[in-house]
Parts: sequence; C-alpha cells; structure tokens
Amino acid sequence: MATTDHHLKDSSSSSPSSVVVVMVPLLAQSHLNHLLQLSHVVSSYNIPVHYVSSTLHNSQVKSRSINPLRELTKIHFHNFPLIRTTPLPPNLCSGIKLSETVKLLREPVAALLRSLSSNVKRLVVVHDVLMTSVVQDFVSLPNAEAYAVNCGSVFPMFTYAFAAIGQYDIIPIKNIPSVESCYTHEFYEFIKHEFKQMKSQVGQLHNSCKAIEGSFLEHVANYVLKGEKKIWAVGPLHQTTVFKEARDDDKCLLGWLDKQEPNSVLYISFGTTTTFSEEKIKEIALGLEQSGVKFMWVLRDEDRLDSFSNGYEGELSKLPSGFEERMRGKGMGMVVTKWVCQVEILGHKSIGGFMSHCGWNSCMESISMGVPIAAWPMEFDQPVNALLLTEVLKVGVAVMEWGQRDELVTSSMIDRAVRTLMASEEGGEIRKRAEELGAEVRKSTAEGGVTRMEWHSFIAHITR
Ligand code: UDP
Repeated sequence: MATTDHHLKDSSSSSPSSVVVVMVPLLAQSHLNHLLQLSHVVSSYNIPVHYVSSTLHNSQVKSRSINPLRELTKIHFHNFPLIRTTPLPPNLCSGIKLSETVKLLREPVAALLRSLSSNVKRLVVVHDVLMTSVVQDFVSLPNAEAYAVNCGSVFPMFTYAFAAIGQYDIIPIKNIPSVESCYTHEFYEFIKHEFKQMKSQVGQLHNSCKAIEGSFLEHVANYVLKGEKKIWAVGPLHQTTVFKEARDDDKCLLGWLDKQEPNSVLYISFGTTTTFSEEKIKEIALGLEQSGVKFMWVLRDEDRLDSFSNGYEGELSKLPSGFEERMRGKGMGMVVTKWVCQVEILGHKSIGGFMSHCGWNSCMESISMGVPIAAWPMEFDQPVNALLLTEVLKVGVAVMEWGQRDELVTSSMIDRAVRTLMASEEGGEIRKRAEELGAEVRKSTAEGGVTRMEWHSFIAHITR
C-alpha cells in the first residue's frame, strides 16, 4: 500500500493550488538527489511539490540529504512499495533489469496523477528522462504537462548527436568512446526505450550550467531539438544546499582536513555505482602510498537496488595488509567506508584534487568547488565526461585512456596521475583553470547569475 509522509506539512493541503509539481526520479542515488534538490528550488517559489519514489528510495535519499528534514517540509513524499513476483539481481547497473523494476511504478504514479489533477489548474510532471514510460499516462489528463530531466551532462548528447550525422569537425574531442564500450546492451536498450516514448514533453531540464556547457547546450537546443522543445540548464543544484551541523561521522573527517595544508589532500571516491575488485583496490592503495600525497579515500561498494544501509558499506579487508593503520599512523591519509558529505569535503580548503569516476554530479561538485580532477571513468556517460574535463575544459588529468579500459590500472599509473595533479607545474595550471571556472559556476546560482535566471524562467513558464 502506498504511504505519504504525514509528519511533513504539506503546503498544498491547506488551499487549492493553481499549479502543482510532481517529481518522478529514477531509482538511483544521484538521480534521486538531483530531483530532490530540484524540488527544493521549485518549492522555494512556493509551489507545492510532490516527490514520488519507492519507499526504500525515498528513505535513502532523505537520510543522505544534507538539507535537514525541517527544510523538506514543503515537499510531499509519496512512498510506493515495489512488490515483485520474481526477485531481481540486486545491483543497479550491471545486468539488472532496471526496466522491470521501474515498470512497477507506472500504475501507482498514474493513480496519483489522476487524483492530483482533479484539484489543480495545471499539473506539471517533472520526470527523469529514464522514467518516461512510468509517467506516460499523463497524456490522458487534460491539465497535465511534462518535462524530462537529464541528470547527466549535455556533452555526451551533443557528441553522439553530431557524430551520428558525421559532423566531426564540430566535436572538440577525437577518439569518441563508442556507445557499445560505455553501456551494456541491456542498459542501452532501456535508454532507447525511454527516449523513444518522449514525444509529448514540453521541454527538457538539464543538470548543467551555461558557464560549463553553454555552447553545447545551444547546439543541442538549436540543432538536436531543432528549437521545438524548451530547454533549461538548472545546475548546479548542490549549491542550494545549506550546511548545518555536520554529522558526527563527517566531523572527524573535517577535523582531520582542518589540520592539513591548503590544496594538499587528494579526495578519492567513485560514486554509488562502482565496486572494485581486491586486485584494483590493492593497486590504488600502492599507487597512493608511492605518490606520497595525502589522501581521503571513500571506499564503498555500489548501491543495491533491493536494500539500503548507510552504515558499513565498503571493504577494508580488500586493502593490502596494514595499509590503513600505516597511513593513519603516518598522518598520510584515511580510508572511509561510510557515506560522507562529499560536497562539504570538496569545499574544504585543504582538498587540492579529486580522483573520480566522472559521474556527472561529482564532476559538477568538483568544478564548482574549483577542485581539479584525476579522471578514471568506468561506464555510462563517464568516459565522455572525462574527456570533457581533461581535453575540453582542461580541468583534469587522465588516470587512464578509455582504450586501456580492459587492462589493469596499475599503481604506477595512479602514482603518475596523482603526482601530476597534486605536485607538478602542469597540475598547478590545471588547478588555476579549475579555480577560475569554479568561481564562474558559483556565481551562476546567485541572484542575476545564469542558472538563477534559468530557474526564474522555468517557474515563469510553468506558472504562465
Ligand atoms: N556521494 C556522497 N557521499 C558519498 C558518495 C557519494 O555525497 O559517500 C554523492 C556525491 O556527492 C554525488 C553522488 O553521490 O552527488 C554521486 O553521483 P555521481 O553522478 O557522481 O555518480 P554515480 O553515483 O551516479 O555513479
């Protein structure tokens, strides 16, 4: 049975609203969080927002949110159980039939849209592009309209669209990673299926910022969408986050960072969709030790689709014996297996670099904090994001080339990338560019900034 969070005040229940927004995120942490942050933005304009996901995923995104619960009071959460007749493999991305799982939400979401639509002038459905099939029934409601959200960067869309029509001259990178090398067949079929159904949407919201991807956004709007769909670049959204009291787990990490020199620590994290083998973890550990650079390493397994735990999630046992104690003992670094507040860590003055899988949220967070990146992509849009960082924006170095993806990334490759980023003239220039771009991006969400104008424009459009 579906439940709603009654302990939260719902501003829409007191008086009938002319416009109500329903957010429908994909069931993956970075997508859930992006739509939750977008909910905050919309809600800050006093528009009621209904956030719809599975019971498990709502609980996950709320508990990891850096906005304390009282700041979520205007958001009305709808929790739908995912009742399956057959169990699915638990990991989200490799081989899991994500399409089978999201299908379970179509009927409850349709029922919710029907019931909300009867009390409002306009029902605005804002959904992840990968949830198009889940919201498809909005077309039967005369007062509903939908907007698709791309939680990734625009650059891959731009690159593949222009490569498909042979216009390579306009693409600023060579050696474009093939789609087949980035996505499993099953995942790519899922993406194609969701995109194919996207016909009646009024427009698209992109988790991007004109200060980062301005020209690519323009090309996508004018040539890919042919000016037929409206498009807004609403990122970065993490800048709407308010840091209150740090969690106890984070306090100790921030305390250690406080004691370090400015720009001296490398932060390492591979997001929520990567699990490393013991062999790879050992190479990373050896590479870090060889580099002599201080570090903070978040070593966690990928999120599961069927369970959620914010406790111990990584595997210290896969580290070389004695590594953790040795590093802590020498004050060289620490390995963390819990969920951390990444945005706050990246914003700390002692962080001078980020070794990342180039998930787009990590990229946006790092860029906006002016932190250069050691790019080590794994799959999906990450290989193209990595090229955007290293070859186009020039705010990062490559740990490996995509052509080497089937080879082991050795400790010496890691050592080389870390020292280039953290302790070389080239790294210094990269950091300078990252800091300049970061300053531009931070301005974008302030009043009068390019992103703030996009928010105003989107709200003006849906309340027209
Ligand atoms: N993240 C975090 N703490 C962690 C691990 C990850 O806050 O311990 C956040 C990170 O800040 C980012 C998101 O999780 O916002 C990961 O998204 P990204 O797009 O980088 O990668 P994905 O997990 O989708 O592969």
